[in-house]
Amino acid sequence: MIEPITDPFALAAELSGKHLIDGAFSPNHAGATFEVFNPATGKVIGHAAAGDAQDVDRAVRAAKAAQVAWGRMKARDRGKIVAACGARLAAHVEELGRLTALETGKALRTESRVEASVLADTFVYFGGLASELKGETIPFNPDMLTMTVREPVGVVAAILPWNAPLLLMALKIAPALVAGNSVVVKSAEEAPFGVLRVAQLLQEVLPKGVFNLISGMGPECGGPLTAHPDVAKISFTGSVETGRIIYRAAAEKLAPVTLELGGKSPMIVMEDADLDRAVDGAIGGMRFTRQGQSCTAASRMLVQRGIHDAFVERLKAKVNAMVMGDPLDEATDIGTIVSPGQFATVQRYLEIGRAAPGATAHTCSALPSDPALKDGLFVQPVIFTGLSNDHQLCQEEIFGPVTCVIAFDTYEEAIELANACDYALAGTIWTRDLRTAMDAVHRIHAGFVQVNQNLVVQPMLPYGGFGQSGLGKEASLGAMLDHFTHSKTILINMT
Ligand code: NAD
Repeated sequence: MIEPITDPFALAAELSGKHLIDGAFSPNHAGATFEVFNPATGKVIGHAAAGDAQDVDRAVRAAKAAQVAWGRMKARDRGKIVAACGARLAAHVEELGRLTALETGKALRTESRVEASVLADTFVYFGGLASELKGETIPFNPDMLTMTVREPVGVVAAILPWNAPLLLMALKIAPALVAGNSVVVKSAEEAPFGVLRVAQLLQEVLPKGVFNLISGMGPECGGPLTAHPDVAKISFTGSVETGRIIYRAAAEKLAPVTLELGGKSPMIVMEDADLDRAVDGAIGGMRFTRQGQSCTAASRMLVQRGIHDAFVERLKAKVNAMVMGDPLDEATDIGTIVSPGQFATVQRYLEIGRAAPGATAHTCSALPSDPALKDGLFVQPVIFTGLSNDHQLCQEEIFGPVTCVIAFDTYEEAIELANACDYALAGTIWTRDLRTAMDAVHRIHAGFVQVNQNLVVQPMLPYGGFGQSGLGKEASLGAMLDHFTHSKTILINMT
């Protein structure tokens, strides 16, 4: 059995230059690689294999060959193997957390270790659902047995972003595998190593070829994977722009897609809310510990005017108390932005916000003083007040530690503001009034709505948005059936 390696630098070096195809590590056919950085220092930590159409083809062929026996296996046996994947990963939570902290800049204690343990649990959860791959019988004719059955779709392509690579991979591949499909994953350029380590560990449990992982650039590696004729389903998480490209490519071969895209999630705080609880919810909801790099981030805080100033003061105090520092340090609450490109994007939005008439930028927390981190991609969290809901900063996804607090007067106004946005991924309302809460959960236009809490994605809860936030759901039994199986109708005439 592979032993954990808790030195993430050593692990990144060991995983350099490799894809995982047909049960074994394999380089790009021409030896091409690209650099991977530690965003806390700017230093190179390894070189990932730069996959292209030839690598994609090898991976898809391996997956296609392996799917035949895997899809025919008894569902319960497949489920046991997938649950065993979870047990295998549970023994490696610490190393996976450390490696993720190193390559993404997400703090180990508040983010990366938590994500690694949810990864393991997601496999256990879906492994237990194998016997639920049920169809139905239909009372059509007494002389006929008429039914539907669920069948695997074949080879599933999963294309990942960098912001929660372990969790988002698990939410795609665990249900896809349980449903009898084989998988080819394309990792994000910024975070190729954590998911590659997962792929390596799972080779101890899964039949070879069932789960393959390649790294590379979007157009050169993700493009051929999306277009490959033997890829029967594409599950994508990432930006709206790339989602559109993938949807178009899938349309060419009429392959189904699931698209988990961006968000600009409203958090409505009514005057009767428990203010301390709402402020804690704002900290968690805005994912300040992840530098705001979350599609569900509560980046539009709509606060009733009577409590607006108190809310902002308490929020500032709490964010000020958060410690920015080395993502691998246990004392750190907030790590770094993932890449120089994302860092520049956040800075651009901050400049636009600071220049807006009437806006105030409340800058919180303190940059780390350690000279070893001087080139790190740290950004102080900023809370904007005085911007209107239709301002660019309140409408566009920043994917950084930047939130806008907007005052409103009436409940009706709050609902109107919450829904005045092209994104519709998530939303929350904070109130002690049950009637208001019940009304709001129906009227907030978003795929994931909560009252008095801001929980993150759970494997048993369907998750996904509407409009510019995407198509289809991830997580849950329903999503596994809807997105990773075909329904076939069968009629047996017994006369
Ligand atoms: P991105 O769209 O730039 O990249 C995502 C993935 O797509 C990467 O693996 C990339 O290599 C690949 N890709 C890029 N171009 C491609 C192409 N032409 N063909 C095929 N694949 C291609 O997004 P990102 O910057 O990595 O991630 C951030 C975005 O992801 C944010 O907009 C965020 O909202 C979104 N996101 C959404 C969710 C959700 O569940 N809704 C979760 C996390 C992140």
